[in-house]
Amino acid sequence: MARTTLWHPFTQHAVEPDPIPIVRGEGAWLETRDRRRILDAISSWWVVTHGHRYAPIVAAIHEQIDRLDQVIFAGFTHDPAEKVASKLIGRAPCGLAHVFFSDSGSTAVEVALKMALGYWRNIGEPRTRIAALDHGYHGDTVGTMSAGSRGVFNAAYEPLLFDVVRIPFPYAGREQETLDALEAAAREAPLAAFIAEPLITGAGGMLIYGAGTLAEMKRICEGHGALFIADEVMTGWGRTGTLFACEQARVAPDILCLAKGLTGGSLPLAATLATPRIFEAHYSEDRSRTFFHSSSYTANPVCCAAALANLTIWETEPVLERIATLERLQEESLAALADDPRFMNPRRLGTIAAVDVKVPDGGYLAAAGPALRAHFLDRGVLLRPLGNTIYVMPPYCTTAADLHLVYDAIRSAPDALA
Ligand code: PLP
Repeated sequence: MARTTLWHPFTQHAVEPDPIPIVRGEGAWLETRDRRRILDAISSWWVVTHGHRYAPIVAAIHEQIDRLDQVIFAGFTHDPAEKVASKLIGRAPCGLAHVFFSDSGSTAVEVALKMALGYWRNIGEPRTRIAALDHGYHGDTVGTMSAGSRGVFNAAYEPLLFDVVRIPFPYAGREQETLDALEAAAREAPLAAFIAEPLITGAGGMLIYGAGTLAEMKRICEGHGALFIADEVMTGWGRTGTLFACEQARVAPDILCLAKGLTGGSLPLAATLATPRIFEAHYSEDRSRTFFHSSSYTANPVCCAAALANLTIWETEPVLERIATLERLQEESLAALADDPRFMNPRRLGTIAAVDVKVPDGGYLAAAGPALRAHFLDRGVLLRPLGNTIYVMPPYCTTAADLHLVYDAIRSAPDALA
């Protein structure tokens, strides 16, 4: 019989241990109600960038909530939103000129898909086919599940999902297959858009591919007029070593999806950035061409104030240097696992490191996942493996001593499974 009123995300309450009450966060650390400390080595699902309760962000939130907590964003505007939009345009890959706010990574991507379809409809050439890179994860709403890889997560909702053209993941040495498949898909019938997580897939297994392949995929899209949607919900805000992953391929997407680290991971806010041609296709005296999307908290002023503080941190603090230090620490820690026969495929991109534990049955539902999680928590470390893939994606304030704890816990993990 169910014992809980709260229904937690991605949680099988029948078999999982009770959730751990957290009362405080500070830097890379969480504190439990019974005063245990847990190192947040996954940035609380990849949202926290500078650290929990980063002082300038907390101060900006306090200041804003004393002035304006919330206002409808249709027919009204406010300074925090205006400033965030203009700073975002200044920092984003060139060509992106319009910012649409929403509240989560899923809504940022839903908005992107709707913008793409709206664009084609409004210019009188209705294209509806979407292509997506395999092993992608774009969220849990119906549109984003459709674009993401199919599996146990979305099997129950399959009848509601729309078809997308799957482009095989560009595994090392097989990149040309990906490019050929994208080219063939675009030739077969016009594509409205192609969506991909640039350089690394997140929930799809932390699979890394090269900047050259990303640039080629964008080139193919351009050649066929397909809009290129970059889902940087995970990769944005420095995770891959640059502010945005697209920068490493010198790729300017037609639509860019941002969330999570947009507020430094403090409050929920998302932004979908678009090029002028997409905005202008919706700009008309004909009201039926309006971009029909909203949510109650679009551009919430307090969330925008947090985002503005985050953007100011990026302008005034040596964030990329902190990231470079974390990259070096991750590389050294990972190198120590390279010769360990109990692990395979150690890999790193920017601040994100991943390694697979050798287990007879891999995959998301592998029994290894929960056992590993419990082992890490026993060691005071929050890690949430994807099946047998352990990844470490900590906040940028994580120290060498913190990472030692993490990798000590990882090294002892296979024995805990035995
Ligand atoms: N897109 C990517 C690449 C993600 O990693 C995620 C979440 O992990 C999402 C979209 C969905 O974001 P949210 O959980 O904020 O809806």
